[in-house]
Amino acid sequence: IKVVIVGASHGGHQSILELLTRYGENVDITLFEAGDYVSFMSCGMELYLEDKVTDVNDVRNFRPENFPQSNVHILNNHEVKTIDADKKTVTVTSASDNETKEYPYDKLILSSGVKPNNLPVPGADLENVYLMRGYNWATKIKEKLNDPAIKKIAVVGAGYIGIEAAEASRKAGKEVVLLDVIDRPLGTYLDAEMTDILEQHLNENGIEVLTNAKIEAFTGNGKVEAIKTSEKEIPADLVIQAAGVKANTEWLKGIVDLDERGWIQTNEYLQTNLPDVYAVGDATLAYSIPARKKMPIALATVARREARYVVKHLFEEVPNKPFGGVVGSSALSVFDYHFAASGLNSFTAAKAGVDVRVSYYEDTLRPKYVPEEQGNPKVSIQLFSDPMTHQLLGGAVLSTYDVTGQGNVLALAIQNKLTLEELAEADFFFQPGFDRQWSMLNLAAQQALGEEP
Ligand code: FAD
Repeated sequence: IKVVIVGASHGGHQSILELLTRYGENVDITLFEAGDYVSFMSCGMELYLEDKVTDVNDVRNFRPENFPQSNVHILNNHEVKTIDADKKTVTVTSASDNETKEYPYDKLILSSGVKPNNLPVPGADLENVYLMRGYNWATKIKEKLNDPAIKKIAVVGAGYIGIEAAEASRKAGKEVVLLDVIDRPLGTYLDAEMTDILEQHLNENGIEVLTNAKIEAFTGNGKVEAIKTSEKEIPADLVIQAAGVKANTEWLKGIVDLDERGWIQTNEYLQTNLPDVYAVGDATLAYSIPARKKMPIALATVARREARYVVKHLFEEVPNKPFGGVVGSSALSVFDYHFAASGLNSFTAAKAGVDVRVSYYEDTLRPKYVPEEQGNPKVSIQLFSDPMTHQLLGGAVLSTYDVTGQGNVLALAIQNKLTLEELAEADFFFQPGFDRQWSMLNLAAQQALGEEP
């Protein structure tokens, strides 16, 4: 049985692992990757930019030599151009010799992902206007962080990728301005109570945050020299854009059903409209358990869960159960703060048309008698729940202490559709070295129910 995979990132990698685990030598796997570098892990880019991982060749999901099996063929510099669903072949062009060949498949898994957006403004083609994704941009950004001629860096987009770019730039000793078109940094991940704390913390660490910044142009003579917004001009020797993505699906137009924004359309079994052709990862919309609908959740975790599901059910005539969906969980450090967020927040709930009740709880991590300098910082918790049923739909935790593990507790609660009442009473441990008599999530849920803890 021949399985062809498109894209060597999280979705492609997980597909190979699952195929080998489940079907061993009974399956012949060919993975095509358009790029030269196999499986750069953008999630690890900040570690590389901050010199915590020094060799860029280590920042990856896998190396081709990790799969020495004779039934696994990993072909980089091979771009898949089209699919012939009747003949069950893909047409592939090799960049090394410019040759185009057809390869047969029995099953085809698409994980072609996304590419970062270049803002559609004048000057986007100037030298030193960069993007942040993949091996090539990582190495280029790193070079500029080490270049003393680059003094001022402007980062466009204050989502988690932009925050990573800004923090790495600041730690490299650059003057940094972080711009976003909306009114808060990380505004699509966290509600204002938490982004207020983080915005102030970014400022304290020397990052100027400019919100409501509508970018009109990048200006300069050959090289970028400034960003022009509707309000002012911000000098910059380097611009790093982290302002959204576009699906790598132009090549699928007219072949596979795409929605109006270019995401590959899949059914509840992650099948496309073509028989035996499946799609996973960032190029698709993910089924969100709390929103009860598909929405963009561009995370490695999602691509991997989807690939696992697809391969598990690959040879069932009709899969015996639909993909269960994801919650969408992420975590990030912003200098001394760490946060984790799971499920919906006010911004994403409004976008998905889901009504949420929002509650915010703040307290010390451990019993009050433990002095702050002994490791008893403030912890903030936000919960989002269904106003009628009290089902938990989202949550976030933030502290200078690493409480991100609590984000996974929230993820599990959201995935299993627990209510505030259940979270308020869940039996968690108490040990004053770590937490309060009631765990912080118990207390946050109790407060959300109007029971003042
Ligand atoms: P992609 O990673 O987009 O890869 C698609 C691959 O397909 C590419 O290699 C591309 O070259 C190839 N391809 C496309 N078209 C073709 C074609 N026609 N023929 C052959 N090959 C093709 N997620 C997390 O969960 N946690 C994190 O901490 C995190 N941090 C991130 C940090 C950064 C800076 C970035 C940019 C992303 C981060 N993400 C994180 C998101 C995560 O990287 C993506 O969700 C994940 O990579 C999606 O995997 P994918 O397989 O869908 O596609």
